[in-house]
Amino acid sequence: MRPRSLLLACLAAVVAPVSACGAAKSPLGSGSPGSATAAPSNANASATPSANAGVTGAPTSPARRRVVLVSIDGLRPEYLFEADARGEKIPNLRKLVAGGASAEGMDGTWPTVTYPAHTTLVTGVAPNTHGILANHPFDPKLVNDDGWYWYAPAIRVPTLWSAAHGAGLHVASVYWPVTVGAPEIDWNFPQFWRTKTDFDDALMRALATPGLADEVERAYGVLPAEHRGDHERGNAAELLIKTRKPDLSLVYFTDLDTVQHATGPFSRLAYATLEAIDGEVGRLVKAAADAGTLAETTFVVVSDHGFATTHEVVRPLSYFRARGLVQLDDRRRIRSWEANILPAGGSCGVYLARPDDAALKKRVRAIVDGLVVDAGGGIAKVYEGAEVAAKGGFEGATWVLEATEGFTISGAVEGDTHSITREGGTHGYPPTVRSMRASFVAWGAHVRAGKLGVVRMIDVAPSVARWLGVALPKAEGVAIEGAIAP
Ligand SMILES: [Zn+2]
Ligand SMILES: [Zn+2]
Repeated sequence: MRPRSLLLACLAAVVAPVSACGAAKSPLGSGSPGSATAAPSNANASATPSANAGVTGAPTSPARRRVVLVSIDGLRPEYLFEADARGEKIPNLRKLVAGGASAEGMDGTWPTVTYPAHTTLVTGVAPNTHGILANHPFDPKLVNDDGWYWYAPAIRVPTLWSAAHGAGLHVASVYWPVTVGAPEIDWNFPQFWRTKTDFDDALMRALATPGLADEVERAYGVLPAEHRGDHERGNAAELLIKTRKPDLSLVYFTDLDTVQHATGPFSRLAYATLEAIDGEVGRLVKAAADAGTLAETTFVVVSDHGFATTHEVVRPLSYFRARGLVQLDDRRRIRSWEANILPAGGSCGVYLARPDDAALKKRVRAIVDGLVVDAGGGIAKVYEGAEVAAKGGFEGATWVLEATEGFTISGAVEGDTHSITREGGTHGYPPTVRSMRASFVAWGAHVRAGKLGVVRMIDVAPSVARWLGVALPKAEGVAIEGAIAP
């Protein structure tokens, strides 16, 4: 019943026809894009390539198409659209919004957690199709030492990087999830960690594309790593955009998620963290300008999910253990189990050791119903697994539990069924929960400026593929036409 992991050979992608035209104008107009005053600007709308195309009706597309896809983990759309009311200073992001295409919100994946969402962002398919079901692979005996779905071969479908590689394009990735061992990424700093200390530098040196770690360390002193911050991730991305001029760059900023887990969304620390990330976004735009690639680059800024404030925790596995569904050994480790969970913050899948055992299913269902009663209001809904599978998540689960907003589902095997915790934040609730909406902004080459309604996360990869001029034929989503100019 453990989900299979298939590595599919990447499909050959095709390069879209390119127009033969001269150098395009900078989407920024004049000025230095990295500075707060002259970063992406919509002051002169005619300075955008899309506007030029609209005015003249003639093909003004640069011959080369490049995309920088930036993910800001846990960025709720309100951060972008209510910046004044919230007192945020995010000039670079605001100028991307003002001069680009931006969605009111983006409906995410089941569950709304980082690894499934990031894989959907680069494949255009739901988690049950791409195979990254949660942050952690199902680990019923908790033997995997908190390991995550780090490894790219677990992705079952073509990715943007495999499509780009197949089309002869070059790809850089800084910290994008599920990229360890992705041979189609030419320059790769994958997200991975072990101790979250300086000892992890040796690991990053081994996992990154040979030679890159030394180069980044020479230029900036330190490597990107889990225990360092988004500035170090920005360093590596800046270097790659400037020196390698990748056709596709994937850049993942994690700090806003970390802070929001600790404080909840919209805290003073969250605003300060986003302001720092805004500076990193400005650096990336400036790096493209310095590389001379800005006019042919589409910047897409997304997030993977929203965020909710939390104050209580529910422990389904502990509840199962107390009712005989999980047995511990004398060292308090799981020895055997009949029912288990795949936790994902605001939701979890419930898995049976023998899913076809009708008697077991009936017995566990009664216990799940008891949990709903005993969880202090923390379980909002129990879904049939098949119902959620049809929406693309929690493959193989017999049921899926949705926590009440404000509650986190813990994977702990011991402890109270529910208890109050210090206030913090989480995500992972179903994508239908409003606070789980993610962000989508596109700006630059071939972007049709304007406001979009609510878009879908499965539509991001097909849009990026279009901007890049490659094909992603297995995508379940479609390109967001309202954001795309010729
Ligand atoms: Zn995330
Ligand atoms: Zn998170």
